[in-house]
Amino acid sequence: LVVLGIETSCDDTAAAIVRGNGEILSQVVSSQADLLARYGGVAPKMAEEAHSQVIDQVVQDALDKASLTERELSAVAVTIGPGLSLCLRVGVQKARRVAGSFNLPIISVHHMEAHALVARLIEKELQFPFLALLISGGHNLLVLAHDLGHYTQLGTTIDDAIGEAFDKTAKWLGLDMRKSGGPAVEQLAQEGDAESVRFSIPMKQHKDCNFSYAGLKTQVKLAIASRNIDAKVPLSCASSLDRSSRADIAASFQRVAVLHLEERCERAVEWALKIEPSIKHLVVSGGVASNQYVRARLDQVVQKYSLQLVCPPPNLCTDNGVMIAWTGIENFRVGRYDPPPPANDPDDFMVRRKYLMT
Ligand code: ATP
Ligand code: FE
Repeated sequence: LVVLGIETSCDDTAAAIVRGNGEILSQVVSSQADLLARYGGVAPKMAEEAHSQVIDQVVQDALDKASLTERELSAVAVTIGPGLSLCLRVGVQKARRVAGSFNLPIISVHHMEAHALVARLIEKELQFPFLALLISGGHNLLVLAHDLGHYTQLGTTIDDAIGEAFDKTAKWLGLDMRKSGGPAVEQLAQEGDAESVRFSIPMKQHKDCNFSYAGLKTQVKLAIASRNIDAKVPLSCASSLDRSSRADIAASFQRVAVLHLEERCERAVEWALKIEPSIKHLVVSGGVASNQYVRARLDQVVQKYSLQLVCPPPNLCTDNGVMIAWTGIENFRVGRYDPPPPANDPDDFMVRRKYLMT
């Protein structure tokens, strides 16, 4: 089994080829870093154009790096959501063109399911049921994965996701946004005192597994304003005092943002163990899971319950084609795929599957 995975749900155009045994034959990501830096966020129309410009090349590069032609593929997997529909369409049309031209089955993949399931490619011991914390730019989910395609959502964000809070903190602190904001905040936080700015932990009074990051974002914005930090002055030019107070804010924000995750995860583990006592793993995935501080703190949480933390390597935590190909493989094995589309009908943008996680 050899599956091509295509991902275009947000600002990365990604493709990868993975074998049924989990061997990654190739992996290509083209990111819209320049657009992101120029506009401080993703503009759907521009993102769509950027995907359209590179999608053919990205897929070709994935085939070339794997030394394969389309004829040697078994199926094509593609993200059908959630994401920006203009952007998703570029990937779906490409997948349907390849599948139609080479008579290949097509597998519809849920982006968040893929963030979770890629952990099973990395950790072969990871069996269902398991608990997953999915933390990225648009989602903050605690999910109990009973079986493939069978998930219970224990918690979600009532406003923003943690990645959005990292990105805005980076922007307001004037950090380098050429990559996403998260890594820049993580790096600066290493220089700061995490106890210096007293941010309050979100939703302490709500004894559930939901999340909220909008209030913390506002607290960060106010802290920056009250210290007269000018985000237009680059970090490298700022006085050392300015740099250290920015680092203090970064570290204090990161500490509280992650304390919120820790608290919710503890409750979720306790709930989950009551429903599925055989759970042995907490999967943490999505872009924010590449943060080393997040990993270290959540590792402490799971150790209390004798569970094992499974975090994919950073390049499989952020958006990538491997997770789409792998989730395609898992679904293909249980017969969840569509027959090859007609060769000249790439416009049929049908979303066939219903998911519990949306
Ligand atoms: P979603 O998966 O919700 O649709 P997305 O696909 O845009 O969102 P991902 O690529 O999965 O997001 O994750 C990107 C997010 O991860 C960004 O908000 C980014 O700032 C954050 N991120 C990436 N690396 C780190 C890091 N080291 N520390 C904190 N956040 C990070
Ligand atoms: Fe994602």
